[in-house]
Amino acid sequence: MATTPESAAPHPVAAQPPAATRWHDLADHVLAGNQISAAEALAVLRAPDSQLMEVVAAASRLRFHHFSNKVKVNYLVNLKSGLCPEDCFYCSQRLNSTAGILRYTWLNTEEAVTAARAGIAAGASRVCLVASGTGPSNREVGKVTDIIEAIKSDTPGVEVCACLGALKDGQAAKLCASGADAYNHNLNTAESHYEEICTTHTYADREHTVAEAHGAGLSACSGFIAGMGETHEQLVELAFDLRAKGVDSIPVNFLLPFDGTPLEGVDALNPRDCLRILAMVRFVAPDTEIRVAAGRERHLGNLQGIALYVANSLFLGDYLTSEGQPGAADLEMIADAGLEVLRMDTDVEGGAGESDDDNAPTATPPTGQAAVTGPADTGASSTESKQNPVPIRTRGAGTTEPANA
Ligand code: SF4
Repeated sequence: MATTPESAAPHPVAAQPPAATRWHDLADHVLAGNQISAAEALAVLRAPDSQLMEVVAAASRLRFHHFSNKVKVNYLVNLKSGLCPEDCFYCSQRLNSTAGILRYTWLNTEEAVTAARAGIAAGASRVCLVASGTGPSNREVGKVTDIIEAIKSDTPGVEVCACLGALKDGQAAKLCASGADAYNHNLNTAESHYEEICTTHTYADREHTVAEAHGAGLSACSGFIAGMGETHEQLVELAFDLRAKGVDSIPVNFLLPFDGTPLEGVDALNPRDCLRILAMVRFVAPDTEIRVAAGRERHLGNLQGIALYVANSLFLGDYLTSEGQPGAADLEMIADAGLEVLRMDTDVEGGAGESDDDNAPTATPPTGQAAVTGPADTGASSTESKQNPVPIRTRGAGTTEPANA
């Protein structure tokens, strides 16, 4: 009988070795330079809770191999909040949203620089400048390029990522010329699920902007929101598409079901699901920055710190329209996990090799950042917090209140 390549080299997951070695075999397979299959990615999402720590341990080997013990800290500055004509069902800033979020038009350059400084002082090496809307006019791109130049002049070495919606011809090049390092445009959900979460633009529209920004020389940041009614197969479909597009960073959000949006009350995730999703993406895109993003407090709950053994990046403090846990608690969580904040210009991302060093130095709050002396103020457990409405951001950019950083 002819021997197929598959039967000659047993499928690491399908062969069903003991649980203790099954996931490490898959990590070995990836560390040897192989890509996992869609079936293997699905198996990660469907791993039983009894094997979850084995899955995390195996995924963490990929994370440490490519990113050592570093955590990239990113800081969001919402330049323009609400008032969007698009209808993304998950978004508190959408058309007809009645969510009680802050609504304001563009911050000026000084306000944006001040907002960025708060995150940088707390240890962020990347500032993410975000504006709601379908996409910017050329005049609005001019506002943002002024802001980028001012932030870069204020803090040489900081990375700046712009997230302004769909880009028109030439706009990515202007952002790049002003010093922008990256452009974020999330695909949000699988192509096969896209019509279920938005009717005013398409998945192809989003793909176009990702390609436009990447083609202009900007690092491509593109991720998704889990928990919007997608299937496991669709999560896998999306992860493979992001890998195929060669994005450099993948923000993984977990749905925040804002009151006043069509997805109000949707609660499809638990903390173990969130870990499995992060692990699946790590197996699919082992050397890509994976950023645990909005919804981590609500959905990962007490497992947030464990998520950093799979993800290598997070947002510090608050999100665009919702509150995060205190920025100091984020830093304490990194330290508790034995990880270090990636410093701008000094630390090298990736390529550090697989390390078993349990005694690596831990994160300390950067100069000027008060250490957290008590338990992190993470609020209720994820189960309790899910009974509460999504906490709305009422401080930082667009307000006179100090930022959570
Ligand atoms: S996700 Fe962006 S485009 Fe969609 S409604 Fe929100 S701000 Fe508008």
